[in-house]
Amino acid sequence: MSDTLPRTELSSLGEFGLIERIASRIQLTQDSSVKGIGDDAAVIDPQGLHQVVTTDMLVEGVHFDLGYVPLKHLGYKAIVVNLSDVYAMNATPHQVTVAIALSNRFPVEAIDELYEGMAQACAHYGVDLVGGDTCSSTSGLVIAVTAIGSAKKEDIVYRSGAKENDLLVVTGDLGGAYMGLQVLEREKAVFKETGAQPDLAGHDYILERQLKPEARKDIIELLKKLDVKPTSMIDISDGLASEVLHLCRQSGIGAMVHDQKLPIDPTTYRTARDFNLDPSTCALNGGEDYELLFTVAQADYEKVKGNPSLSVIGHMTDKASGYHLVDKHGGTHELRAQGWDAFLRKE
Ligand code: ADP
Ligand code: MG
Repeated sequence: MSDTLPRTELSSLGEFGLIERIASRIQLTQDSSVKGIGDDAAVIDPQGLHQVVTTDMLVEGVHFDLGYVPLKHLGYKAIVVNLSDVYAMNATPHQVTVAIALSNRFPVEAIDELYEGMAQACAHYGVDLVGGDTCSSTSGLVIAVTAIGSAKKEDIVYRSGAKENDLLVVTGDLGGAYMGLQVLEREKAVFKETGAQPDLAGHDYILERQLKPEARKDIIELLKKLDVKPTSMIDISDGLASEVLHLCRQSGIGAMVHDQKLPIDPTTYRTARDFNLDPSTCALNGGEDYELLFTVAQADYEKVKGNPSLSVIGHMTDKASGYHLVDKHGGTHELRAQGWDAFLRKE
């Protein structure tokens, strides 16, 4: 929270005043949004399509630390992480609802910043904020976002459709968000001990990956353009390894992933080395990259080959072969998920 902002107490507005303030800054842009904020419920016209609905919650102290996350970025990210789940169904999001629990330690200006970030994300991705809920919290800030999207029935891609011999493809690059978090945590610790101002120079890319992630709307469009329908798909929120295992388990098959094919940005690589971490481990288990992982039939190889946004990192095998990682020397290891687990905090 910025100290330079004026401070208006939430109590001076009250719950309804706050909702009115939020509503006054929102315009509906989507044809399918029939009614937004203001009635008991929003009204959406499915326009003959299948609807997909998903919710993700962000809890202060568990998912974010206001010590280094600006509220505007937090608002942006809260929307993006939900949209990512809609894209992972090969669907297009059109609406979101936002529920927030707040303590009176937040002034009205802080809520404005949070909603400004959400509004920016909504504008960027073409979705309408059509409702929500507001309540008080005796401890931290909680933000729960529900995203609603749509797709033609035949376009929807599930986690369960991968077949033996399908190619395993990942978008973008991996491990950056995790390394960004390591830099932020390190600088926070230094600040606590010495009061030294954070030294974030040279880490722009990975900090952005952590603080201002984007959802891969472009990939859904790219797949349509390439005329490729993935056989299965998932978004990478908990780390590549964990998501590969989800695809395998839900599709009832195995997988072989090649360490050398993992897409890792040079900045991520260098920072991992500086932290004495193995870059591949960061890519496999880091999480929060919000990239898409999907499988395609071998016949689609020519269509995805060489695309700068796509990396073929392995293939699917029969169930009995299990899940494996092939290392740089050709050795194989069992693929294990050490990703972020909602109930087991890292040490
Ligand atoms: P109810 O008591 O029926 O739950 P509320 O007073 O909570 O109604 O909400 C009134 C309207 O304001 C509804 O349309 C609701 O979706 C919207 N709303 C409430 N809180 C928020 C919020 N934090 N963000 C966006 N819309 C909100
Ligand atoms: Mg309510």
